Amino acid sequence: MIKEILARIKQGYRTLPFPFEKIKLSERYKGYPKLDFSNLKESEIEELLSVCPNSCIYKDAGKINLDLGNCTFCAICEKKLPQAVKFSKDWSMAFSSREDLILSQDTKKKSYVLREEIRKLFGRSLRLRQVSAGGCNACEADCNVLGTPAFDMGRFGIQFVASPRHADGILITGPVSENMYTALIKTYRAVPDPKIAIAVGACAIGGGIYRNLPKVKGISEEINIDLYIPGCPPNPITILDALLRFIGRIK
Ligand code: SF4
Ligand code: SF4
Repeated sequence: MIKEILARIKQGYRTLPFPFEKIKLSERYKGYPKLDFSNLKESEIEELLSVCPNSCIYKDAGKINLDLGNCTFCAICEKKLPQAVKFSKDWSMAFSSREDLILSQDTKKKSYVLREEIRKLFGRSLRLRQVSAGGCNACEADCNVLGTPAFDMGRFGIQFVASPRHADGILITGPVSENMYTALIKTYRAVPDPKIAIAVGACAIGGGIYRNLPKVKGISEEINIDLYIPGCPPNPITILDALLRFIGRIK
């Protein structure tokens, strides 16, 4: 026991200072992208439109868009055309509508708009039932890690709970396979009103790398998504930042 106490004293306080102080993420971290298609030649535009393995870059009404919701942040587009796509270190990617994830070069990054009723209801305590609806488990791993001493989301009153009956809402990961479709709806219905739903990761938001598979159904329209957190998987800091903005603990 003495050994453990001494080890604990030696290790010191292990919780990251986020969000109270700036922290440094890995050099490889890819955050919110900056887009500039203005100086691209015709051949480069063609290349850009065909480079994304996930078809996230496309033309709509003559405008080039990047769908951050389905983006896996693989950075292939950035490697091929760094003058057009540059991923920043900005980890803050909390969005309340699917449309906010469709970026063009004119898109001004929106700050998350806090809904007052969410702050009032869940600002001091948010209990979530996590539903893994297919996917590869990396999103779940990055959600689970939020409960460890390094992130300690419990200090903000946010916790995952075992039963939807004890939850304020659901947090969905994975593309929602056929086998999970009904289970997800039943879990959502079991959460008492008023309730919220959060989609974490490219799979939950738009199907991600699985979206063209026949057994992938996506989230039912019955489930109203209140918060979208893009990434594949999103970094735990991106998830924590989004949850804290959602309940008004940071602005
Ligand atoms: S980073 Fe996103 S947009 Fe770029 S190629 Fe990868 S998936 Fe496509
Ligand atoms: S979004 Fe990416 S990391 Fe998350 S479950 Fe899907 S494939 Fe895995």
